[in-house]
Amino acid sequence: MIANEEKSLNFLEEILEEDIRANKNGGAVLTRFPPEPNGYLHIGHAKSICLNFGIAQRYNGKTNLRFDDTNPVTEDTEYVESIKEDIKWLGFEWANEFYASDYFDTLYDFAVKLIEKGLAYVDDSSAEEIARLKGTPTEPGQPSVYRSRSVEENLRLFAEMKAGNYADGEKVLRAKIDLASPNMHMRDPIMYRIKHAHHHRTGDKWCIYPMYDFAHGQSDAIEHITHSICTLEFIPHRPLYDWFIEKLEIFPSKQYEFARLNLNYTVTSKRKLLQLVNEGFVSGWDDPRMPTISALRRRGYTPASIRDFCDRIGIAKRENVIDVSLLEFCIREDLNKTAWRRMAVLDPVKLVITNYPEDKTEVLHGENNPEAEDGDGYREIPFSRELWIEREDFMEHPPKKFFRLGPGLMVRLKHAYIIKCEDFVKDEHDMVTEIRATYIPESKSGQDTSGIHVKGTIHWVSVPHAKTAEIRLYDRLFSVEDPGSEERDFKEYINPQSLNVLPAAYIEPDLEHAANRGYQFIRKGYFTLDKDSQPGKLVFNRTVTLKDTWAKETKKA
Ligand code: ATP
Ligand code: MG
Repeated sequence: MIANEEKSLNFLEEILEEDIRANKNGGAVLTRFPPEPNGYLHIGHAKSICLNFGIAQRYNGKTNLRFDDTNPVTEDTEYVESIKEDIKWLGFEWANEFYASDYFDTLYDFAVKLIEKGLAYVDDSSAEEIARLKGTPTEPGQPSVYRSRSVEENLRLFAEMKAGNYADGEKVLRAKIDLASPNMHMRDPIMYRIKHAHHHRTGDKWCIYPMYDFAHGQSDAIEHITHSICTLEFIPHRPLYDWFIEKLEIFPSKQYEFARLNLNYTVTSKRKLLQLVNEGFVSGWDDPRMPTISALRRRGYTPASIRDFCDRIGIAKRENVIDVSLLEFCIREDLNKTAWRRMAVLDPVKLVITNYPEDKTEVLHGENNPEAEDGDGYREIPFSRELWIEREDFMEHPPKKFFRLGPGLMVRLKHAYIIKCEDFVKDEHDMVTEIRATYIPESKSGQDTSGIHVKGTIHWVSVPHAKTAEIRLYDRLFSVEDPGSEERDFKEYINPQSLNVLPAAYIEPDLEHAANRGYQFIRKGYFTLDKDSQPGKLVFNRTVTLKDTWAKETKKA
């Protein structure tokens, strides 16, 4: 891929270009995407994926997929599979599939090497004691009595830790760095802890597991990762990242940091998403209201729209909050170009065309997508005397600029004729049950000789030909901009209107064979078939409305 020349380089691209110019690492670019398999990927991960894979593609490099599976307790193979599916779906290919757990033997040897160099020691202090002795950012830490153990004793104890001679928490292995460092991460950080737990890949082979800081950089070095890109909260870890690599004398991978994606009206912490799933606030990780990749896919988002979103938000060194309406804008843009147009009546009322023969059916034609040059083909639409139309398209007492139906008003039926409303019927609850109209036979779309001009066009579905479908309308899952902020319980801000199920909408018969693609239900939004659909019982998800309805709300307010 060639860099987009109209756009200026982001700071990471500048670093890469400089490194390539200087022939650093022989000009090689190798990045990695390192998910922890403890949940499903979300839109924030998509940003990291697009960045890591995108930048490697741009500079003829490669990207490894590395599962950061050093914490046996929270990890699961189900998550591994979903992560792979999501990355592929987004359109990226990894050069290698690796697991940090594959390096457990090497990491153990690295630890032994540091002990031998006098740069690591076994500490028997409790977690509380270690924390107490660590000092505070303004006060230096104090050494524990175990800090001066001999190399031989440390080697023996570390081997015993590995052999399972000690219980969880009884001992840790720490790097011996600087207890007075202003950077708390450098005050003899823990490298290994004892955890008698089953691991999803290594089983019961290990009862000691490396900490993030003693696994990530070392895994990068083992794979010869040139640019290890992570989020800003790892800036204070960087000196430690460099220290381990320097002391171990291994491949000099370098860490770079960028601002994570924060989206308003959304939570992206995996811990919180897991709570939503486990406590039944949503139907699962792929509930279409979730910010996970699998939920966005089910909702009808396309890979191209998510890549476009990640491209538009760009890469920065400072945290900010992105408006979720930008994500919605991106999917609207994409679907406008690709979605097939169909008619669906979500809140139906019957329209009878009194001068149209009772037993007649006409087959009309509608382009799949008028935005496409060739219309992207067309479908057949049956037309008859009785039609379903949208209840909101009729008003008994219409105001002046209402260009739809009301007594005496004229409107065009999409792809069909101009009609004139003559009359209507109400039931005992004052509810309109039927609208009666006449049609102008010379006004057929595409061959209109009537000379009549009307301002409004409405959609419809022929009553005897209509199919029914369940339609699920989604709104934002949270009703406040920052549900994830520290001082609130995010579950108290769930939008009670986030799911609205219409059990029986009427849809064009052609949709009975709906494909797994985007549809625009004319005037109603973009929709896609849900996986809950069965033959004879179709279910559609609304991907996004046609316009940004929230922008209107804000303006009104
Ligand atoms: P969470 O805090 O939701 O559990 P995490 O950072 O622990 O997320 P990982 O599986 O470790 O999740 O993330 C894999 C990669 O994705 C990491 O490099 C991480 O920095 C990146 N990442 C995670 N969340 C975001 C985000 N919101 N924006 C950008 N990158 C992210
Ligand atoms: Mg993480």
